Amino acid sequence: MSFVTVQFSSSPDLQSGCQVVVTIVAICGLAAAAATRSQGIIRFERIVSLNRSYWMSHSFGRKRSWRFLLEALLAPSEKMRVFNIESVIDEFETVTKSAGHHQRETLRKILEQNGKAEYLKNLGLGGRTDPESYKARVPLVTHGDLEPYIQRISDGDSSPILTGKPITSISLSSGTTQGKQKYLPFNEELVQSTMQIFQTSYAFRNREYPIGDGKALQFIYGSKQVKTNGGLTATTATTNVYRSEQFKRTMNDIQSQCTSPDEVIFGSDYQQSLYCHLLCGLIYSDEVQFIFSTFAHSLVHSFRTFEQVWEEICTDIREGVLSSRITVPSIREAVSKILVPNPSLADSIYQKCVGLSNWYGVIPELWPNAKYVYGVMTGSMEPYLKKLRHYAGNLPLMSADYGSSEGWIGANVNPSLPPELATFAVLPNIGYFEFIPLEKIGMQELESSLTSIHYKEAEPVDLTEVEVGKEYEVVITNFAVTLTFPHGCDFLDGCDLLLVVNSHSPFTNNLTATRETSEFVAFLYLLVYKVPHCINDATLMFIISKLMFCVTIVACTKSILVLGLHQKHSLYRYRLGDIVRVTGFHNCTPELQFIRRRSLILSINIDKNTEKDLQLSVEAAAKLLAEEKIEVVDFTSHVDTSTEPGHYVIFWELSSVSNDEILHSCCNCLDLSFADAGYVGSRKVSAIGPLELRIVRKGTFDMVLHYYVGLGAALSQFKAPRCVSQSNSKVLQILCMNVTSCYFSTAYEN
Ligand code: AMP
Repeated sequence: MSFVTVQFSSSPDLQSGCQVVVTIVAICGLAAAAATRSQGIIRFERIVSLNRSYWMSHSFGRKRSWRFLLEALLAPSEKMRVFNIESVIDEFETVTKSAGHHQRETLRKILEQNGKAEYLKNLGLGGRTDPESYKARVPLVTHGDLEPYIQRISDGDSSPILTGKPITSISLSSGTTQGKQKYLPFNEELVQSTMQIFQTSYAFRNREYPIGDGKALQFIYGSKQVKTNGGLTATTATTNVYRSEQFKRTMNDIQSQCTSPDEVIFGSDYQQSLYCHLLCGLIYSDEVQFIFSTFAHSLVHSFRTFEQVWEEICTDIREGVLSSRITVPSIREAVSKILVPNPSLADSIYQKCVGLSNWYGVIPELWPNAKYVYGVMTGSMEPYLKKLRHYAGNLPLMSADYGSSEGWIGANVNPSLPPELATFAVLPNIGYFEFIPLEKIGMQELESSLTSIHYKEAEPVDLTEVEVGKEYEVVITNFAVTLTFPHGCDFLDGCDLLLVVNSHSPFTNNLTATRETSEFVAFLYLLVYKVPHCINDATLMFIISKLMFCVTIVACTKSILVLGLHQKHSLYRYRLGDIVRVTGFHNCTPELQFIRRRSLILSINIDKNTEKDLQLSVEAAAKLLAEEKIEVVDFTSHVDTSTEPGHYVIFWELSSVSNDEILHSCCNCLDLSFADAGYVGSRKVSAIGPLELRIVRKGTFDMVLHYYVGLGAALSQFKAPRCVSQSNSKVLQILCMNVTSCYFSTAYEN
């Protein structure tokens, strides 16, 4: 006996849902008739309505007839996908109106599913799932506290450590937020919540800036995958998301299908991928509805690159032959397929480019139907806004949603606000959120404070208890998902093939979130659609070995069967290290403004400077360069304690050479702009030495980027480290080896 389960994704309302079901039944009827003719036996088992989605499973007895049935079922289901903006907004309104209720429910689900995890058992939660017991027994933690547990998981310990079910994969943070890459339990729920967040913000965005049918020029990249000691795959969370079928489906639904083929996104050489993203974006320039990258840095980096390669791209388009710089075979093959000689397009691009003044407005000029530029533009991305505005000309910039490798937090539902004012409405059903109230401490307390924390903390409050105008550190408790067999393993007997479906789309969604599973799914897809002959034993064994490797499946399959997905939790009361301000409420859920990372980056004595303080100082000093039309391309900092007293070092890469006098004034301005009382006081009494400005060669920050990408960061996820510690010796070495001149501040001399 074998099974097929097909689930049709969210129907806007019950009525159309019913129509869907009726249609499916009709289709299945036809399929059944056909299959019966070919001696198959079809038996409908059940139709279940689940969360506005409709499950239908039926079984049939004849080997191989499944392929026919699958095609009959899946093809119409694809066509039935209708993304209903109003229903997404309605759903968001409903959920946020009862945010408190959803928070309790979310926590209950998380704790119910993970009661057996060693971590929770040891804390004596004893099956309780209410917020009060949870907060009383489970401590607030940082990544450092969880590291020993995550280490055990990545070393291959498959016992229930952090979650009820074993973790099958590991996510890798970009490593550029805090200087080192963090291992996090892989979170398949991230794919789900990413789609929820994307759809929500898209729905609101589209209400104000409707886009037509088309594609998106997306500068997105898969990152390198590494194996942990225990054989688990570790890669960045965005790579996992981009690999998922569900991502592609959602992008399709929201007219955001990437102009580049997958081979470009997952190409092994990010520079070649970037070139091809630009090329493909231009091939489909009339269809492009918006321009996107995860972070603004990547958008700016892309157009800086365009300034260098545009003529070569024009030649490629004119001649229909891909530049010899593209050497990765998979990228070459995929892009060559869509590249045909188009002299008129090449001429038009050429004319437009030469007509631009210093590349101002290049985006709307080359992509005339683009409605906006989209990506994270807040926090550490703010320094790139000026350049991005330059490229975007009159096109609106829209800041994308707020999340991290650990999980998503909120969606931008006020898209018309400029990036500097962007807010994020927390989705109360994607995790359980707490907020640690933070209050700045006074000068006296600051001087006596031995810790690096320059905030007074109060007890964490719940999502609905936060107050407008106040600042908080975000604490998350979130989901991860694991695969489970809803019916046990018995029904595996006598199956040919395993088909994986989940609760959001008709075909193979969640499973695609890891490399192995996506390979498997691609393989399966091939098998179902492309391979005309039946599966032999060797193929079957191959599939099974893949499955056993990538998920916790332990049985042999002898036909198509149904898998379900179960959620499991991975992080409990995890301090994200981000500071946010509450700007208001959307119904009962808070709207957050991202303020900055909490950690201090520059501190020698009693001085305490954050990433934001550094950014403000750099902004102030960079104004002195503006008259010469010179820009700070990128910057970072370092605390140099090799001299006595220690001093701050700021590294700048400039768009062109400036003169010593101006740079010396910039150096003084940087020094004076660190307004933190601890710094000013220490400088005055020479407890901290004069600030040093070091100018690095053009391209130095590209080398830093290259280094991080080599470690596994994705280009689109890259954030320049804003402080390079002594222990980050490789990056420090790159910077120091490229210094062309340095200046010491005289600002406090008199
Ligand atoms: P990663 O280490 O790559 O997972 O990066 C996650 C971090 O990026 C978050 O903890 C934030 O500090 C930052 N981040 C993510 N989204 C935003 C946003 N919309 N605005 C500002 N910062 C963000």
